[in-house]
Amino acid sequence: MIHRLQRIVQEVSRSPDVQHALDLIAVRLLRDLVANACTIFLTTNEDPPLLVLKASHGLNPSYIDKIQRRFGEGLVGLVAQRSEPINLIKAEAHKDFILVADSGETEFPIYLGVPIVSHRKVLGVIAIQRAEKAFNEDDEAFLTTLAAQLATSIEHAESQGRFKLIGEIDNEPSMHIVKGVAGSPGMAIGQAIVLNRGVNLESVPDKKVIDPEPEIKGFREAISKVSNEMTEQAERMRGILPEEECALFIAYAQMLNSGSLIEDTFKRIAQGNWAPASWRDTVEEHAQVFEQMEDEYLAERANDVRDLGRRVLRKLMLEQSHYIDFPDQTVLVGDEITATDLADVPPDCLCAILSAHGSGSSHVAILAHALGIPAVMGVNNLPVKQMDGLKVVVDGYGGCVYIDPDQQLLDEYATYLREEEEIEQDLLCLKNEPAVTTDNHKISLYVNSGLMADHTPSLLSGAEGVGLYRTEIPFQIRDRFPSEEEQYLIYKNVLKTFDGMPVVLRTLDVGGDKPLSYFPIKEANPFLGWRGVRITLDHPEIFITQVRAMMRANMGHNNLQILLPMISGLSELEDSLVLIHRVRDEIEEEQDGAVQLPKIGAMIEVPSAVYQIEDICRLVDFVSIGTNDLTQYLLAVDRNNENVAELFSSFHPAVLKAMHQIVKGANCTNTPVSVCGELAGDPLGVMALLGMKIESLSMSVGSLLKAKKVIMTFSQAELKTLFNKAVTMTNPALVRDLYARKLDERNLGGLIRAGK
Ligand code: PEP
Ligand code: MG
Repeated sequence: MIHRLQRIVQEVSRSPDVQHALDLIAVRLLRDLVANACTIFLTTNEDPPLLVLKASHGLNPSYIDKIQRRFGEGLVGLVAQRSEPINLIKAEAHKDFILVADSGETEFPIYLGVPIVSHRKVLGVIAIQRAEKAFNEDDEAFLTTLAAQLATSIEHAESQGRFKLIGEIDNEPSMHIVKGVAGSPGMAIGQAIVLNRGVNLESVPDKKVIDPEPEIKGFREAISKVSNEMTEQAERMRGILPEEECALFIAYAQMLNSGSLIEDTFKRIAQGNWAPASWRDTVEEHAQVFEQMEDEYLAERANDVRDLGRRVLRKLMLEQSHYIDFPDQTVLVGDEITATDLADVPPDCLCAILSAHGSGSSHVAILAHALGIPAVMGVNNLPVKQMDGLKVVVDGYGGCVYIDPDQQLLDEYATYLREEEEIEQDLLCLKNEPAVTTDNHKISLYVNSGLMADHTPSLLSGAEGVGLYRTEIPFQIRDRFPSEEEQYLIYKNVLKTFDGMPVVLRTLDVGGDKPLSYFPIKEANPFLGWRGVRITLDHPEIFITQVRAMMRANMGHNNLQILLPMISGLSELEDSLVLIHRVRDEIEEEQDGAVQLPKIGAMIEVPSAVYQIEDICRLVDFVSIGTNDLTQYLLAVDRNNENVAELFSSFHPAVLKAMHQIVKGANCTNTPVSVCGELAGDPLGVMALLGMKIESLSMSVGSLLKAKKVIMTFSQAELKTLFNKAVTMTNPALVRDLYARKLDERNLGGLIRAGK
């Protein structure tokens, strides 16, 4: 069963459009379940939704698109409404059965219908029918398993199908809206640039070409190079490999020169797609022909075609030498955008990020925040391959993306952008004002940093120092560990820029979703694995080098504070302190003079640290709450996984209570507490944190004036009352609403959404 299932799912996932996918499913089901009829209904986006017949095999096909059912109407509507299978021996006898004249249904009374569900949403219904022999439990299990697996593919094919670019070049814009999760606030109107690393056929994007000639030329050259390589390889290997293995290379070369692979690609180029995507489609079409063959040996040849496809693609990408001319307003689009991808785009051009994977607390979203640009993450039906070059509107507040927007929407967002600009202009006058609540509580505001960027905006924003410098970023953009001297220069630069103000440098926090290309870690559960201080304590040479660079850079400034990430127990803290003291002693010896020990703090971001807060506070000078990881670990929600992104909320009452416990614990030992996670830069988060009497916040520079505005608008007393109410609530969304309504009451809704 598993093989039959896998084969159908694979074929469907490669379908060029949704209709092809649905017809394929129906045909395969008739064969694999020995049924006489198969119908597939899909749910529309209307409110209330309708189920529309989209594929019909074995019954009268003229009803496609004509039969529509509401949820609860007819057998199909019942399956959708109940979200469960219905298995009947005599469909006509069921009270909900609706006869469609001339459909041919009465000949096949045995009925099995299952819902297609993704993320709690019924996307449609698949029904199969037979003339005789009831569907048994195995049939039901097969269809249910298949429907569950197909849900994502159908969702994906649906979004790709609705949005077919090539071949429709002259069409009017057809705006396509997709939703993800808000990654970084703000809005942008720009041009999509799809990142293509060029080794994987599936990830090659479509690209319109006006002049096919250079494409054809490049393609011919790539084919000829690969073909020659194959023949040469066969010669070289003769005598080393068995004759039949060598024959494979020759067969590859012949296959390459076969007319249809080349001709079909030429045709696609002539239709307006560039060579790599034309080749991608040809290879897939040919591979599928093999794949569908009953003979196992021939079916396996599909892999050879794809292998060949990859080889030619590699050459083709080299030929194309693939220079990207980034437009002024670049919206970077990809299946998975990484921190290092950002470095490829000239900073002045980058205006937004769209990623099919990841969530609002992924590190790339945090980087977007630091850069002050919007990001929408986890858009799992983002038609990545078809977006290159298209105009897009990105709404980082609501997590919405409008592809190929119409003029009305463009005008609407141009207005929002103007209004946002006005809000920002208004906020500028707060730059030199102290952040004081209306009942006179002074709140210290710091910036989060770590990008190699210029620190001038942070200084100009009125920040009182750096509350979190993520040192891992300089480590990530290199291809080896930075030397002590290189680190010294980086740290010196920031300590000097903020001379006279505190600068909190965090020791290396890699692992989880922050990999180092030159220090690969393979783990099943990276966020529960070797991360942060766990790595650096196991590699004291890395830790010592880093702390040495920090302390040496601090000489003459004395504004350094060292922060230890991922502390989950006292022993990690004690071991780190031993090493830090050792470094201080070493430097004193080298310098032959006293070296001041910087203040040392612990990040509170692992739940165990919450329960040991008083013990931790006795060992350190300050603590800093990492709300991103604390939320992830308290709620058991991977911060990087779009499937559970909806569950990730720092407004969860459990998270708020944990933070309150940290504050109370730290107060017992008079230890200063600050917050450096993303919550600290969210206007609603600021309200919550002030309500628990936190008086030091560190955030992306772009959030600073908005946070200050919130602080200056409310009294700590009223936010304390609101907080007491929030922690009695059961649902994070209600807590957020509570704060949002309060912000709206003061006419500050424009700080958290598009428009004033
Ligand atoms: C956090 O976890 O909240 C934090 C500030 O650290 P990072 O996001 O770098 O893990
Ligand atoms: Mg963290």
